[in-house]
Amino acid sequence: MTTVTGAPVQRAKRASQTIPDSGADTHGPALEPLLFELARPGRSGRHVRAEKTGDVPEKFARKTPLRLPELTEPQVVRHYTHLAQLNYSVDAGMYPLGSCTMKYNPKINDRAAALFADLHPRQSYRTTQGVLALAYELEQLLLKVTGMDFVTLQPQAGAQSEFTALLMFKAYHQKRGDAATRRRIIVPDSAHGTNPASAAMCGYEVTTVKSDARGNVDLEALKSALGPDVAGFMLTNPNTIGLFEERVREVCDAVHAVGALVYGDGANMNALLGIARPGDLGFDCVHINVHKTFSTPHGAGGPGAGPLCVKAHLRPFLPKPWIVKEADGSYHYDTAREDREPERLGDSIGKIGKTLGNFGVLARAYTYMKTLGEEGLVETGRDAVLAANYLLALLRGKYDVAYDRPCMHEFVLTAARQKKQGSSALDISKALLDEGFHSPTVYFPLIVPEALMIEPTETEPKETLDAFAAAMIRIAERIEKDPAAVHEAPTKTPLRRLDEVGAARKPVLRYRPA
Ligand SMILES: *Cc1c(COP(=O)(O)O)cnc(C)c1O
Repeated sequence: MTTVTGAPVQRAKRASQTIPDSGADTHGPALEPLLFELARPGRSGRHVRAEKTGDVPEKFARKTPLRLPELTEPQVVRHYTHLAQLNYSVDAGMYPLGSCTMKYNPKINDRAAALFADLHPRQSYRTTQGVLALAYELEQLLLKVTGMDFVTLQPQAGAQSEFTALLMFKAYHQKRGDAATRRRIIVPDSAHGTNPASAAMCGYEVTTVKSDARGNVDLEALKSALGPDVAGFMLTNPNTIGLFEERVREVCDAVHAVGALVYGDGANMNALLGIARPGDLGFDCVHINVHKTFSTPHGAGGPGAGPLCVKAHLRPFLPKPWIVKEADGSYHYDTAREDREPERLGDSIGKIGKTLGNFGVLARAYTYMKTLGEEGLVETGRDAVLAANYLLALLRGKYDVAYDRPCMHEFVLTAARQKKQGSSALDISKALLDEGFHSPTVYFPLIVPEALMIEPTETEPKETLDAFAAAMIRIAERIEKDPAAVHEAPTKTPLRRLDEVGAARKPVLRYRPA
């Protein structure tokens, strides 16, 4: 928590709070003391008297007390409340983190997910028919939105879904007898880093193809990279520059012509909802970042879910078990009709995650889709694109646009002009914190120098978009007058600029008592 090391960081104090000096040189600034520092021997928040019941055999009983901090209940509650107040979240304000679709997460989703919190992960399908019904119906909704034929809910993130799909590509080529020669996966140079990483994890060589002047995959470069040794091509649409791949059908045809498969990275599906279906664009499969498109934004790293939707020719290779719906409306798993029956895997790549994936996140997605309905989902996609284009129009004069075309759900600015004036994309993102906003994604995609990648999402009202644009414009104007003006930003946040290199290279992750 308070573990970022490096250069001394200015400390901000909350007026109502006295912060003991915990020795910044060992574990960083103490905005909020650790529980261990707050603890005093003999304090307790226990309301229920613990009695020895004799249930635990003596040999397992602990001989020495646990070294837990001793605190009262209000101390614990205040500690976590203070930490939450130091944080920034989508409940607190706009979170324009490009590529992450940090939309507001309706609270009804959490209520729905909580209904399933008491289930045992290995409970029989006989006593969990409602759970299977939800999962099955969610599968149908995802297939409808994507225009695909079959789906697995097992992958727990986009990256794991990519990995799953590429294992399936391998199994597909194996079945056709040329897996050994198909050693390469092609990715565009604008791809999310997980694409080449997943390919490498599956043992593939990665070939990168460049983007053309309009920000699309360069079709000629792709064609010359294609050959009989290619297993697949990974395409994000809209791509990570926030642009629709204008020649997506031609791209898919070219890949299929050499017997390779097309992986659709559907992380940017928010832009397409109700407008276009990946299944109609030529993809053999597409993953859905449920934790982007269908709420549950994943700030701080999780949890997520990345269902993988496939066309019929890839179905045999899908992870097992599959949920089956009988004519009488009951559900079971195809591999475990009786709980003890051995698994029938066939050509399946096997199990790659929990049978029903990250179910809490999936339950939220189901609730989200059901509350919006078909009309609401179409509106979501359109509003996301509208919000991004509105913001782009407001900012175009003060910032350079990487590829100046109408955007989809997000857009990428370049702070090249500001860099020449003496301030960087990082400075701008830090200055935004002083303006009360979360920073956009910076320095990604890699092909845009000084990139500022902005995704407002559909959940922000016009006033918020206007306020964000005004803040961005104020920053650009300050830089025009005095580039050094934002070098010290942020100045109003609880912590100033951190030594990020030190934090990455020499992290102090363990608390050591003095
Ligand atoms: C977010 C994202 C991913 C990876 O998804 P995770 O769930 O974070 O693993 C892959 N591709 C694109 C384009 C993304 O935006």
